[in-house]
Amino acid sequence: MEIQRRLLSQIEILALKGNLDTAACMELRPLVTQIVESGKNELCLDFTSTQEADPAGLKFLRNLCKIFASRKKQIHAFGASSQLGHKLNQLEEWVQSVQYYKSNTEFENSFADQYALWCKKLFTVAQGGALWRSVNLRCPLCRHEGFSGFLLNLSGYEETWEEEDITPQWKALNNSENSIEWEVYEVAVCPSCLFAARRLNFFEVIMPEGGLEHCLTAENLESLEKIAIKRRGILGPTQEKQAKYLFGAPRERSMAYPAWKLFEITLRGLQKGRKMENPLELAHANILLAKFAPSQGERKEALSTAYVWLQDMIGKYLNYSKKDLARAYVYAVSVGLALDRNEDVRSNFEKYQSQCASDTAYDFYTQRMESLVHSLRH
Ligand SMILES: [Zn+2]
Repeated sequence: MEIQRRLLSQIEILALKGNLDTAACMELRPLVTQIVESGKNELCLDFTSTQEADPAGLKFLRNLCKIFASRKKQIHAFGASSQLGHKLNQLEEWVQSVQYYKSNTEFENSFADQYALWCKKLFTVAQGGALWRSVNLRCPLCRHEGFSGFLLNLSGYEETWEEEDITPQWKALNNSENSIEWEVYEVAVCPSCLFAARRLNFFEVIMPEGGLEHCLTAENLESLEKIAIKRRGILGPTQEKQAKYLFGAPRERSMAYPAWKLFEITLRGLQKGRKMENPLELAHANILLAKFAPSQGERKEALSTAYVWLQDMIGKYLNYSKKDLARAYVYAVSVGLALDRNEDVRSNFEKYQSQCASDTAYDFYTQRMESLVHSLRH
């Protein structure tokens, strides 16, 4: 059996190619143990290319379900053939504990929706009456509390491509008083230790009725502690003393650059050895560093960094979800155009055409890709 590993945000996906038999179980066991021990709470099994599971394979899956259930961890799975699906449905432990999806797309969509759903619920109890609100946060690293994170009510906004931007923008639907340059507010920053994150569930949310836990693992926290020193020096000494005011609301546009820089440091801190957990997030952060850069030199440097990570992802495309890949291609073409890498632009456009364009799920990106390449032709 061939086992391919890829990551969707914090979820490890194992694609099992071939037969799930005794030999395959021996290969899988150390991998799964490593994932469980690493403190990850979720695992996904991709059966799209799995042919058969023999009794040893089924027994392995049953035990896996027991281990995960006893540790309150979740298994997701998708893509089993009807024959394999039938066998899996005979396993009581499997039926009781596994979250099953028909396809990779269904899994990816439901997963992407989880954080959005979390935000939507949180929005209803957040402060402020407009279409963007704030919540009170506690830092998972230094325990400082009472600083703000911001949320958008996405139903009042539409994601659009602006010609001069590389990433899509949230545009208020018909109410200009709700318009906000979201990227200025998107990163929440602890004013005490300068830990910064784009997702509010990297922090604890303080609420009168008890609050919400953060989603970082013990291992994540340990690596973030180690790089605390790197966050110092991003702000000048005067700014550092005023951090409490600078990262609240209203937030000046000039604070977007340090906020994204601090977030970039968080992402690098979550990196394991030489392996980046989520290169697309890092590329995205660098694209925004370029957007808000105080100088041309910093802009160029951020774009070049983003480009390296995007090209790296494209080179290892099997490791990533198709949705992340579609986004990576579109960003790579934009950044490639900004850096005058016209050869790469053509080749990335062709790869996008063959890998993503035929799928209507990526129409949003396909449309953008076409307008980008159109500008190259004229
Ligand atoms: Zn802190």
